Amino acid sequence: MSLPKASPADIEYVLRSGGTVSDEDYRLSVAKNLEGLGIIRLSPFRIVKCALEGDSDFDDLTADQIECPGEAIVQSGQRDASCSRCGRRILVDGKKVFPNHLITLDSGGIVRFVRRLVAPKSPLVRNRVPGLLVTRFNKTLVRICIPEACKSDIYVTWYEHFKEPIVYIISNTAGVYKNDYSPETIVITLAELLSATNPSNLLSSAVREAFELLVEAKTRVSFVGLLGEFEKAVAKMTPSEFEKFIGRFLEDLKKRPDQLENYKRKLSRRSKSLLGSIIRVIGGSGAEDIMVEPKAEYLANLFSSSGTYEMKKYTTTLMLDDLSELVRHCEQRGTSGILFTSTDRVASSVWNGIRSIKTSQGSWKYIVVDRNLILELLVELGLTNMLSA
Ligand SMILES: [Zn+2]
Repeated sequence: MSLPKASPADIEYVLRSGGTVSDEDYRLSVAKNLEGLGIIRLSPFRIVKCALEGDSDFDDLTADQIECPGEAIVQSGQRDASCSRCGRRILVDGKKVFPNHLITLDSGGIVRFVRRLVAPKSPLVRNRVPGLLVTRFNKTLVRICIPEACKSDIYVTWYEHFKEPIVYIISNTAGVYKNDYSPETIVITLAELLSATNPSNLLSSAVREAFELLVEAKTRVSFVGLLGEFEKAVAKMTPSEFEKFIGRFLEDLKKRPDQLENYKRKLSRRSKSLLGSIIRVIGGSGAEDIMVEPKAEYLANLFSSSGTYEMKKYTTTLMLDDLSELVRHCEQRGTSGILFTSTDRVASSVWNGIRSIKTSQGSWKYIVVDRNLILELLVELGLTNMLSA
């Protein structure tokens, strides 16, 4: 594969979903190169300028109109359009047409690109989480996470809880910024990889660095260990014991105002970043299949202890129908609702359902606090000892 010979800044410029690059922009060649690598998609479109000297309508413009910096998008065969700025009706005939390209990041293509960089150096271990590659360094598993393609926030937002080494590759375009991560986290940007003389080497030194950090980070919680503890504790609980467990957690939450404030502050600092978001698969195909919502808003009703609670130990997948009892209670009482569940198996229709209610009402009426979110809350509030109690 041939990499673009361009600066990280120019590469980053074209790594933006929703961005555009015109035929006259020197970065078009960079964009074409990234399209060839499968990292972005380019969709052609054309624009005309509202006021451009040389256009056949230029002499008819008033003094005000001549100053208009507006443009209009025109499809092929389209005869007239309106200016994005002044709203003026523009006749396309006789005007200069500028070819342009809309940029869309291809998250699958980014993962495939990174996978090719890992492969020659070290073996890839099979892994089922999209956006996450697992490799080996000194017999230790090292994860490589591409947050924009990763459909689980365990790896995206939980990085500070990982004792297991992890390298993040961010394309810097979806609201995650390199300095959002703590200094002990290994983060490289896709632009750095693409502009490196030897990207495979850059990636393998990042993997080595992550491994070395692990050696120093013995005090961190092991997510894998914690997950095991949670599963073991919950397996022993009857459904009503699980209810009591969550009840105790809600009581303890109130007794820890300082920790709660710290967590809330952290979430609100990161409310525009993937790091502060709840990320779940909502089904469907294409770009619409992941829900990314700020946790600060998602958990607002939990933080203000308002709403009706329901706690369910599930051994099967949580389905949309399972919410109906809670919805009925909430409607009778005129409250919002929070469903706690012991599982991470939640049907995509559930996320889709509660999110469309949120979209229609403007705020979260129903939320599901699943296993992963319960674990995060236990860690953030210093309540992991509840699992061994
Ligand atoms: Zn105009």
